[in-house]
Amino acid sequence: MLVIKNANLYSPEPQGTKDILMAAGHVLAIEDTISDQYLLPGTEVIDAKHNYVVPGFVDSLVHITGGGGEGGFNTRTPQMNLSDATSAGITTVIGALGTDATTRSLEDLLAKARALTIEGISCYCHTGSYQIPVRTITGNVRDDIILIPDFIGVGEIAIADHRSSVPQMPELARIASEARVGGMLSGKKGIVSIHVGDSTEYLQLLEEIVKYSDIPRSQFYPTHINRNIGLLNAGKHWAKDGGYIDLTTSTTEMDLQNGEPSCSEALAELLKSGVPVSQITFSSDGHASLPVFNDKAELVGLQVGKEDSLFNEVKKAVQEEGVALENALQVITSSPAAVLGLKRKGQVSLAHDADLVILDKDSLAINSVIAKSRVMIAEGEIIVRGTFE
Ligand code: ZN
Repeated sequence: MLVIKNANLYSPEPQGTKDILMAAGHVLAIEDTISDQYLLPGTEVIDAKHNYVVPGFVDSLVHITGGGGEGGFNTRTPQMNLSDATSAGITTVIGALGTDATTRSLEDLLAKARALTIEGISCYCHTGSYQIPVRTITGNVRDDIILIPDFIGVGEIAIADHRSSVPQMPELARIASEARVGGMLSGKKGIVSIHVGDSTEYLQLLEEIVKYSDIPRSQFYPTHINRNIGLLNAGKHWAKDGGYIDLTTSTTEMDLQNGEPSCSEALAELLKSGVPVSQITFSSDGHASLPVFNDKAELVGLQVGKEDSLFNEVKKAVQEEGVALENALQVITSSPAAVLGLKRKGQVSLAHDADLVILDKDSLAINSVIAKSRVMIAEGEIIVRGTFE
C-alpha cells in the first residue's frame, strides 16, 4: 500500500488538498484526510505538502522499437528504455512503427510493448505502417485490432509527405473503416493515427474523406500539426469542426529557427483562437530521428526524439505562455486518453489506474512518478530500471 498525503490534486481539473491511497495498481481512496488507523503496517507514506499531484502522462506516439533510418542503416535510432519514459513522467505509451516497416516489424513492436508493460508502465500500440498497403500481423487491420489486445488503432499512416505512399482517398477511407469496425467489435476506439508531412496539401485528404464518406472526423488523429504555420492553421479548422489534433514536442533548434512553432506557443495560440482544449494533444514522437543540418543545409548529424520534451513543453506553456495548469496538463493526460479510448488512463480517481506524477509546486519539476501504484521515480531518482538498463 502507498498513501500520498496533503496532495494538491489536479485530475487534471483542480480537486483541492487530498490524501490518496493506492495498492495493486488501483486507487482505493481519495479523501480530505485518510487516518493512519486505516493503513496496513508497512504502508509507504509520501508527504506531498509542497507538491502538485497530477495524472501520469499519456504519450500517444513513441517509436518504442526505434525509428529513422532515412540516412542509411547506421541512422536507425535505438529502442526506448523504460526510464526514458518514467523519468519524463510518462506512464502510458503508444508505440508505432515509423518510416521503416521493412527492417522493423509489428511483431517486434508488439513484443517491445509487452516488455514495457511487464517492466511496469502501460504500453499499447498501433498496427499498420507509414505506407499503404499497410503491414499487419493477421492480414488486415480489422482482425489485428479485434484479435490482438495490445493494438488500439492503426498508423502512423503518412500523408502529405515525400516519404508517404501517396495514398488516395478511397484506400485511406477503407483503412479507416476497417479500424473503425475493428474498434467497435472489440470495445476500442480504432483510432487512425496520421503522420502529416511538409507538403502544402496539409489535411486536404482527411477533409475529403470526411466530406465524401460516413467516417466521422473523430476517427482520425493527425500528428505533427505544429510542423509549420500553414499546417497549424489547417489543424485549427479541422479541430474547430470537431477533429482531434496532435502536436509534436520533439523539435530541434533548427526546426524552431525555420519557423516551426513550439508546442507551448502553438497551444497558447490555438486556445486563444477558440479551439477547445479537449481537441488538442501533445506527443513526444520519442526515439524518432531528428536530422541536424549545417548552415549549407548539409546533413551533419542526427538526434533522437526525447520523451522528456513532452512535459517540458507543458511546463513552458504554463510558465512562459500563461496557459492554466489544468489546461496544459489536459493535453498529455485526459485528452489523449479520451482520443485513444483508454478509459482507465488520464485522470486520478477510483475509476482510473494508480498512475500519478508528483510535481514541485514552484518549479513544476518532476519529483516522483508512480505507475500502477508502484514508485518508479522517487525525488528525481530512478527506482525501477528496465531489464537491460
Ligand atoms: Zn511521423
